[in-house]
Amino acid sequence: MPENKGKNFGKYFTMSFDDGITQDARIMDICRKYNVPCTFNLNTGLFGASWTWVGEVLGKLGLSHQRFTKEEILSGIYKGFDAEVHTLCHPSLGCDCGTDKERVIAEVGQDAKNIEDLTGVAPVGMAYPGGREVDTSPFVIRTIVENTPVRFARLAVSQEKPEEFALPDCFMKWYPSLAVVEMARCKDLARRFIDAVPADRDLLFYVWGHGYDLDSENLWYDFEDLVRMLAEAESVRCVSNAEFYNLFKDRIPSVNF
Ligand SMILES: [Zn+2]
Repeated sequence: MPENKGKNFGKYFTMSFDDGITQDARIMDICRKYNVPCTFNLNTGLFGASWTWVGEVLGKLGLSHQRFTKEEILSGIYKGFDAEVHTLCHPSLGCDCGTDKERVIAEVGQDAKNIEDLTGVAPVGMAYPGGREVDTSPFVIRTIVENTPVRFARLAVSQEKPEEFALPDCFMKWYPSLAVVEMARCKDLARRFIDAVPADRDLLFYVWGHGYDLDSENLWYDFEDLVRMLAEAESVRCVSNAEFYNLFKDRIPSVNF
């Protein structure tokens, strides 16, 4: 008899947005409207920073990348949402931190502590700043898991086959399905996800991005449509990253080396 026979499998939709920028407020308005949870990854060493260079790099002069201030976060901007780590100052943990263990611990552990102090909820996860493979070395992952409360971490690299809606193999190398800037693909996959039948395993659809992506590519209408579609699908359970982690932490390891 197949091991999974008789089990009920679910379909889970989760999202996360990086950097703690002012566009997050509009994302949260949309999420509240449809009662959909969302995760936000914050840099507590960069309160109030304005990164005009992001628009320059993207060829979108004038694009806003303005982080919330400490006072705004203390006032409860993210209340009701999942606030997780994105490090203090957004270094590449693989390139900028090298093998500086203390710096990795400070960037991740202190950010987690600050978020707990600001929101009253202790983070259990993060998104790697930059989010490349190089940032997920065994040294980096081991340092984080052994010295901080962080137990899941998302890359900025999409899965090779997002149409399979696979769960992560291990939580510290959590590959999302798609970036929100790939909106046409996101909406196409969302439709396929809603129609999919989880016959022999659980399914996960994970969209990540930055609030500025929605400004930059004029995607707010499509983003709301995406959220509405998934919220209204009775077969889909919408969860924050932390909720998903807590549901699956006994079945999926944080580290697999
Ligand atoms: Zn970032």
